[in-house]
Amino acid sequence: MKHQFDVIIVGAGLAGLRAAIELGEDTSVAVLSKVFATRSHSGAAQGGIGAALGNEEEDNWEWHMFDTVKGSDYLGDQDAIEILARDAPRTIYELEHLGVPFNRTPEGKIAQRAFGGHTRNFGEASVKRACFAADRTGRVILDTLWEKCLQRSIQFFDEFQLMSLIVSAGQCHGVIAYELASGKLHTLHSKAVLLATGGYGKVYKTTSNAFASTGDGLAIAFRTGAPLEDMEFVQFHPTGIYKLGILISEAARGEGGVLRNNEGERFMELYAPVIKDLAPRDMVSRCILEEVRAGRGIDGKDYVHLDLTHLGEEVLNTKLAEITGFARTYSGVEPIKEPIPVQPTCHYMMGGIAADADGKVITDSEGTPFPGLYAAGECACVSVHGANRLGCNSLLDTLVFGRRAGKEMRRYIHTVGFSPLPANPEKEAADKISALMESNGNETGAPIREELQEVMMDKVSVFRHRTGLIEALEKVRELKGRYQKIAIQDKGSCFNRDLLDAIELDYMLDLAEVITLGALAREESRGAHSREDFPDRDDQKWLVHTMFRYSKEEGPQVFFKPVTITRFQPKERKY
Ligand SMILES: Cc1cc2nc3c(=O)[nH]c(=O)nc-3n(C[C@H](O)[C@H](O)[C@H](O)COP(=O)(O)OP(=O)(O)OC[C@H]3O[C@@H](n4cnc5c(N)ncnc54)[C@H](O)[C@@H]3O)c2cc1C
Repeated sequence: MKHQFDVIIVGAGLAGLRAAIELGEDTSVAVLSKVFATRSHSGAAQGGIGAALGNEEEDNWEWHMFDTVKGSDYLGDQDAIEILARDAPRTIYELEHLGVPFNRTPEGKIAQRAFGGHTRNFGEASVKRACFAADRTGRVILDTLWEKCLQRSIQFFDEFQLMSLIVSAGQCHGVIAYELASGKLHTLHSKAVLLATGGYGKVYKTTSNAFASTGDGLAIAFRTGAPLEDMEFVQFHPTGIYKLGILISEAARGEGGVLRNNEGERFMELYAPVIKDLAPRDMVSRCILEEVRAGRGIDGKDYVHLDLTHLGEEVLNTKLAEITGFARTYSGVEPIKEPIPVQPTCHYMMGGIAADADGKVITDSEGTPFPGLYAAGECACVSVHGANRLGCNSLLDTLVFGRRAGKEMRRYIHTVGFSPLPANPEKEAADKISALMESNGNETGAPIREELQEVMMDKVSVFRHRTGLIEALEKVRELKGRYQKIAIQDKGSCFNRDLLDAIELDYMLDLAEVITLGALAREESRGAHSREDFPDRDDQKWLVHTMFRYSKEEGPQVFFKPVTITRFQPKERKY
């Protein structure tokens, strides 16, 4: 089936929906999502969205910018970070006007809470900067934006999975999608395509991410010629529920919760004397694992306690109701009386499709755009998070850069017409599906996925070392070989998860290879990338973005892009 729209947006999380709203009034827009739109992972965001409103205490955007630069371990591009921090207050008021029900201060202003790495006066002490709606911040923003999209007659293709991009003469003008309910392919022809497909935490065994976070958009863009940037930077959030990885938001520590080791000590006081439990995530995750290594994990095991017992029943039930419910349901503890067992969980990907601050996908270190192709949200690397993202900056990133991508696409589509479609644009996707469906190979996807997630967790997570990284790379490549022999058991065409899981596994294998290659290449420790064999940050050699370009014959090819530094020169990062 064929469809035509000015703009196709792939992804119905906050980035995709915010871009759609920017275009929806006078442009024909389709939004594709492989899950029902409001089930996008943005809806799982708990803690808050950052903006220097100064509603609870003095604050300003320059402090927010500084914290984000320092949090990024100086790898973030400061021109983009300035846009993020400056545009944050406007973004929050816009959400308020759209109807987002934020929590309020007693005088009726938007309430704010503390979050990791956010400080006043360039690092003096924690500041309350995260706007929130209890611990369901992502849920309320997603639902509000979705309603606005419906009002603007934006057309949703829910449960349609992106299979490939239509590119001819170096220009992107549409997508091929697979309809989950029927197994049919659809050609969606457009002038511009925005990828807003979210993260890929599912590459790891323990993750806070949704099942749909498999990195499809990145892997498809990569194979189509768009480079991936800073892929070695994978964020582990310190407080995932022990063994399950389900997130206990940083808001818990923002409201005053503390981490304790087996001796009951508040160990973060030793590692980050100024902001303690509210140090950035890369540090806190490492500190937890240091405690575990020193034998101070709870009962000698690989977890610690998150203690909320002193916050009182009222705070837990009103401001942290969702996560206290998770603790009850999934770890069987009563957080009003007992601490919650936690350990680091794979949470957020700083790397992504290289894009500029207007959402344009770029193809080289000079910023040459890929005509017609855009990216925003977690799947993109703009780069505002550099080597480590601060909590509550991602929801902000999706909205600020989703809007800017929408604006830029609106400008672009008036400069181009609909290019003719290439002959048989569905061929690549159709061939891929039939190869899998008809294969009588002796492998199945599930064990390959499990082994992939395990090796990435063991060897390419919080701490990394050359020996382990080489082992991981060999394993990923072995799994890629085995993938060539997988067969699909389900031969049906209606919600064929077996087929879709196999397709997603292919993407995850590609991304795991690039993450590992990036981690091997970068011989230093910066932000979330901690090399035990290169424990120091090396600004002489490594104050650069790592970029990878796809090559079928030779495997991913590395090159580098300079970091943009405007206001803040790199300094030692102490908290
Ligand atoms: C548990 C949790 C809590 C979080 N809490 C916070 C927080 O408090 N504050 C904060 O700032 N950040 C938080 N984050 C991070 C933040 O929520 C995400 O980074 C952000 O929401 C990503 O939004 P997005 O629009 O880029 O993508 P997502 O919301 O992940 O949406 C991706 C979309 O792409 C679609 N898609 C993917 N692949 C395909 C395909 N092949 N075909 C069609 N559609 C496809 C999906 O269906 C979905 O609609 C949290 C993350 C998690 C996991």
